[in-house]
Amino acid sequence: MGLKPVKKGWNPELWVSRRPLGIGLHKPNNFAEVFRAIGENADNLAYAWRILQDGVCDGCALGTYGMRDWTIAGVHLCNVRLRLLRLNTMGPLDVGVLEDVEALREKSSAELRELGRLPYPMHRKKGEKGFRRVSWAEALDRIALKLCKTDAHRMGFYLTSRGIPNETYYAAQKAVRALGSNNIDNAARVCHSPSTVALKESLGVAATTCSYRDLIGTDLVVFFGSNVAVNQPVMMKYLYYARKAGTKVAVVNPYREPAMEHYWVPSDPESALFGTKITDRFFLVQPGGDIAFITGTLKHLLEQGGLDERFVEAHTTGFEALAQALRAARWEELEAGSGVSHQEMLAFARMLMEAERAVLVWSMGITQHRTGEDAVQAIINLGLARGYLGREGCGLMPIRGHSGVQGGAEMGAYASVFPGVVPISPENARALEARWGFPVPGQPGLTAPEMLEAASRGELEVLWSVGGNFLEVLPDPERVRQALEAVELRVHQDIVLSSQMLAEPGGEVILLPATTRYEVPGGVTETSTERRVIYSPEIPGPRVGQARPEWEVLLEVARKVKGDLADRLHFPDTAAVRQEIARVVPMYAGIERLAKKGDAFQYGGPHLCAGGVCPTPDGKARFRAVEIPRPQVPPGAFRLVTRRGKQFNSMVHAAKDPVNSAPRDAVLISPEDARRLGLQPGQRVWLSNPLGRLECQVFPAPVRPGTLQVHWPEGNVLLDPSLRSEKAKIPAYKEAYAFIELQPHPAPGQGPDVVASGG
Ligand code: SF4
Repeated sequence: MGLKPVKKGWNPELWVSRRPLGIGLHKPNNFAEVFRAIGENADNLAYAWRILQDGVCDGCALGTYGMRDWTIAGVHLCNVRLRLLRLNTMGPLDVGVLEDVEALREKSSAELRELGRLPYPMHRKKGEKGFRRVSWAEALDRIALKLCKTDAHRMGFYLTSRGIPNETYYAAQKAVRALGSNNIDNAARVCHSPSTVALKESLGVAATTCSYRDLIGTDLVVFFGSNVAVNQPVMMKYLYYARKAGTKVAVVNPYREPAMEHYWVPSDPESALFGTKITDRFFLVQPGGDIAFITGTLKHLLEQGGLDERFVEAHTTGFEALAQALRAARWEELEAGSGVSHQEMLAFARMLMEAERAVLVWSMGITQHRTGEDAVQAIINLGLARGYLGREGCGLMPIRGHSGVQGGAEMGAYASVFPGVVPISPENARALEARWGFPVPGQPGLTAPEMLEAASRGELEVLWSVGGNFLEVLPDPERVRQALEAVELRVHQDIVLSSQMLAEPGGEVILLPATTRYEVPGGVTETSTERRVIYSPEIPGPRVGQARPEWEVLLEVARKVKGDLADRLHFPDTAAVRQEIARVVPMYAGIERLAKKGDAFQYGGPHLCAGGVCPTPDGKARFRAVEIPRPQVPPGAFRLVTRRGKQFNSMVHAAKDPVNSAPRDAVLISPEDARRLGLQPGQRVWLSNPLGRLECQVFPAPVRPGTLQVHWPEGNVLLDPSLRSEKAKIPAYKEAYAFIELQPHPAPGQGPDVVASGG
């Protein structure tokens, strides 16, 4: 039986309200976003239009060609892309402003970006007030000279996911490995690294097993710790069609996310006019409660005969050990661990039992814990137990937030894997050496958080950051600043200014102006969440100063340092990079043929593990029982998680989240807790813990009682940088605690006047 068809005509049962356009209801105004984008890009409208029309979106990882995709007919465009457009169309900044760094420190990150594109290489030495313009030759010679004198273990390279294409990731990791280091990492480390680890261990794959099309007309879609309405907005259009096909939607999350409940799809007349009820049922687990919740659900499935025994028998190993753990699990422990009753878990189990097919989607609410790998494994266990693998309408989908991030690790720009997600080992290094013709180190390198720790110990002499902003991304910003300032040479290669560029030089700081993906001659590719490798052509239009493609620059420096390898570190153009990727990463075969708008292929086909057969040595998927985490929260404290508002990555786009009206300094607290503590909406409070303090305003919202949510990156001051997952080493952004101090706050060193209890 195929997927259920999308019913034609309008379906009032799914409407949020009969009030046209949701007038009087609280919702984002997507039409206003279009006018805003037109105004912002007015000086370069024709170019902006060509980018939208012909480029591959540099926002999230759903993936487009122009304003279309491979999942649905009609326009694919959202406000995230519109907000990012200006980064691609604005002119150069006046480099004179960089002569005095102190003056720039007053500016917010958004104000720094708005100054314009970085047009020229710039240089600043320790003790100097600011930067001076230098030639490319001088900048690259300085970098090469320092790299020549630096032990390969004392250098680190980081690439963000901001629109960075596969060609740049590939060239960067090859250059770094030629320098003798595996100290290269990318933004996947801080979002889905546990997904890569757990999927690879269990299924032998490191990406979604299904396609977006499987969402539309399947029986059930479950979102665990994922807010696609904000982070992947066009996914809501897919869900609108899914709802019209009769697909049910469940959300497992500590916050009843308003946009996951009701959504107005702007490009569909019915949904734009009357809205669409998206979620059938929310399960309000406590932060980190997913493992206990899923374990309880599995226990119910086991007891109720709700397993797909044929699938388990034919296609998996390790079930008996899991079953024993499930039988031994006590309901009191599962309820305490999940924060919900066993009846709630039963309700979820019944939804699954009624679903012959389902897609399980997860995101950072799952991964950003010390137990991130276990939480992903728990979802995999659930999917395997129900046989949701390798067939239409079924899948396990770690949904990616940024357009470059799926390809980053697959290209090997990662401290723990070589190209093709091949684990770093001496044996695999030898195989790569044979291909590349130079020695490749066989030990894993430093992950991004480890690079910063090495820097603070004085063990990192060179840090090269392609995009990104550690100051705003990693926990404990003050320690991050100190670490950055201890590095002898920092290289920041980017399209705009960021606050980390302004940190004091440990020795010297060099800024290198980069092109956007749309400016790269020969075009580039990205890999979407659904494993689609998509060609994005060069878009004709204005160019900024002396900005150069990042991939070229990284290799040029490597050639300067390793002159004897120069012939092996050179590509004439991006097409040549793609040709080598096709040879070195077998699953990317076909990338060498991508050459014009719309060219794409989905590696692995629509379903990985087709027919339930996995690329593991025995062809079977592995169950693994996981322990219920018991995070300790001191008496009187609230569990605290960080969340995103109107932003992309760490780039904040609006002072207020249009979805729920929360200002950036809001602390989301349950109405019950607010009432119990006598807190009024808007009241100023301090959140505190031994790591730091954050001033907030009270914002009652449907979060789980006993928990708080604050925006990220502002909440980084409350995060413990030493907390990270064991294998993937992801920082625990969703695993903190805080006390509420009522104003007026006490002087430093004294106890707070009043401490409000998290119960
Ligand atoms: S949903 Fe994602 S890929 Fe699609 S337009 Fe928006 S940001 Fe771009």
